[in-house]
Amino acid sequence: MLLLKVKKLNNSFEFYKFANQTNELTHNYTNMNGKYWNEEIETMPRKQLEKLQVERLKKTVEIAMGSEFYAPKFKELGITPESIKSVEDIKRFPFTTKNDLRATYPFGIKSVPLEKVVRLHSSSGTTGNPTVILHSQKDLDEWADAMARSMYCIGLRNTDIIQNTSGYGMFTGGLGIQYAAERLGALTVPAGAGNSKRHVKFITDFGTTALHCIPSYATRLAAAFQEEGIDPRNTTVHTLIIGAEPHSEAQRKRIEEIWGAKAYNNFGMSEMCGPGVAIECQEQNGMHIWEDNYIVEILDPETLEPVPEGELGELVLTTLNREAMPLFRYRTRDLTRILPGDCPCGRTHVRLARFQGRSDDMMIVKGVNIYPIQIEKILMQFPELASDYLITIETVGDNDEMTIEAELAQATDDFGMLQNLTKEITRRLKDEILLTPRVKLVGKGVIPQSDGKAKRVNDLRHNH
Ligand code: ADP
Ligand code: ZN
Repeated sequence: MLLLKVKKLNNSFEFYKFANQTNELTHNYTNMNGKYWNEEIETMPRKQLEKLQVERLKKTVEIAMGSEFYAPKFKELGITPESIKSVEDIKRFPFTTKNDLRATYPFGIKSVPLEKVVRLHSSSGTTGNPTVILHSQKDLDEWADAMARSMYCIGLRNTDIIQNTSGYGMFTGGLGIQYAAERLGALTVPAGAGNSKRHVKFITDFGTTALHCIPSYATRLAAAFQEEGIDPRNTTVHTLIIGAEPHSEAQRKRIEEIWGAKAYNNFGMSEMCGPGVAIECQEQNGMHIWEDNYIVEILDPETLEPVPEGELGELVLTTLNREAMPLFRYRTRDLTRILPGDCPCGRTHVRLARFQGRSDDMMIVKGVNIYPIQIEKILMQFPELASDYLITIETVGDNDEMTIEAELAQATDDFGMLQNLTKEITRRLKDEILLTPRVKLVGKGVIPQSDGKAKRVNDLRHNH
C-alpha cells in the first residue's frame, strides 16, 4: 500500500492518497474539508453500485472456492463466478448461520491458506459459544477504511481526539475502532473498557472530543462525571459513536442530552468484520449500510423470502470485500427494515432503521410476543427514571409473570409520587405490550451491571 501525505495547509486541511493494488475504488484521496471520505463510492448511482456489487460477488465466489465449507456447496448448486450476472443471483446462494460457524470452529470456513491470515476475532458470545472470524491483512485494511469512512460520515476529522471505551481483546469494538481512528488520522486514546474514573481523567486531561461506547456505558460514564462534580456537558466531548447493542431513539436523545453532544448509531458485528458495517449520517435518520462491502437482504425469518419493501425482517448479509473468510447470506438474526427514499446527505447506500433487536431476543409471555426494546422505549419517556432496567420473567403457579425493575434518576421518599409514577408506567407499558407487568422502582446500584453489553432480560421460567 502506498500512503502519500501532502503537507498540512493552514492547519486545517490535509490530503491523503491511499492506493491499493487490489482495490483502487475503496481508497481514494480525501480532503478533510470535504463532505465525504470517499465521494465516488458513497454517492455512486445505484446502477453503478450494483455493477460493482456484481463484480465483487464474482470475485468473492472465486476466493470462496478455496473454502472447504463453500466449495462443495457451490459445486452442487452450480455457482461459479461466470454464472453470476446480477445481484439477484444472490438468491441462488445457500444461507450461512451462526451454527455453521460453530460447527466449523475454529478455521473450517476459511478461504485462504493460514499463512495469509493475520488476525482472528471472536464474537462476544451474546447468544452462546464463541465463533471465530479470520482476517487477512487486506481484510483489516478494508475494515479500517470502512470504519474511518463511518467516522468521517458523522463529522469526525483528523483534528479529533477519539477515546475508545471498548475492550481491546477479542471484541471487535477495540481494535476495530483503533485502526479506523488512526486511519482517519485522529489522535486515538485506547483507554479500553471499565475504570470510569480513568476515562474521566483522560477526557479532562486530553480534551477528548469523541467517544466510542456502548449506549449503556454512555450513561454510566456520564454518571461517573457527575460523581466527580463535573457536568458531562461541560467537557470537550462533542460526538459519541454508540452501538453494539439495541437502544431506542429515546435512549439516544437522553444520551445526547446528558452529554450535550451528538450520538450516532453505529452497527457492526464480528461476522461482518466488526464496527464499520453501517452508521447514521448527520441526518440521524437510519444507518447507511456500506453496500460496496455487503449485499443487503431483508427476509422473513420463517419463509426466508424477501419481505415487502420497507417492512421489518431479518437482515441477511453477504460480504463483498473480504478474502480470509467471506460469508454468503449470513443470517444476522437482527430485525430491521430498509428506510424508503433518498437521504438528503447525498449518500446512495440504503439506510437501515434502528434495530428492533434480534429474533432470539423476542420473549413470548402469556402468548404475547414482546421485544425488550418496546419496554425501553416506554421507560425512557419518564424523566424520573435513569437508564438502567431489568426485565425478569418467572413462572408463578401456571402463569408467566413479568417484573420490570427500573432505576430512579433521583432518590425520593415521596411515596405518593412513587405510587402514581408506578401506576402511570404500568399503564403505558400495558398499552405497548398488551399485558400488565409488575413495575418496581429501585434506587441506584440495585440493578446488577454487566461488564460488556447490558443484560436486560432475566428469564427464569422452567423451560429456559
Ligand atoms: P455477539 O454476537 O456475541 O453479541 P458482536 O459483538 O459481534 O457479538 O455483536 C453483534 C450484534 O450486536 C449484532 O448482531 C446486533 O445484534 C448487535 N448490535 C450491534 N450494533 C448494534 C446497533 N447499533 N443497534 C442494535 N444492535 C446492535
Ligand atoms: Zn445520509
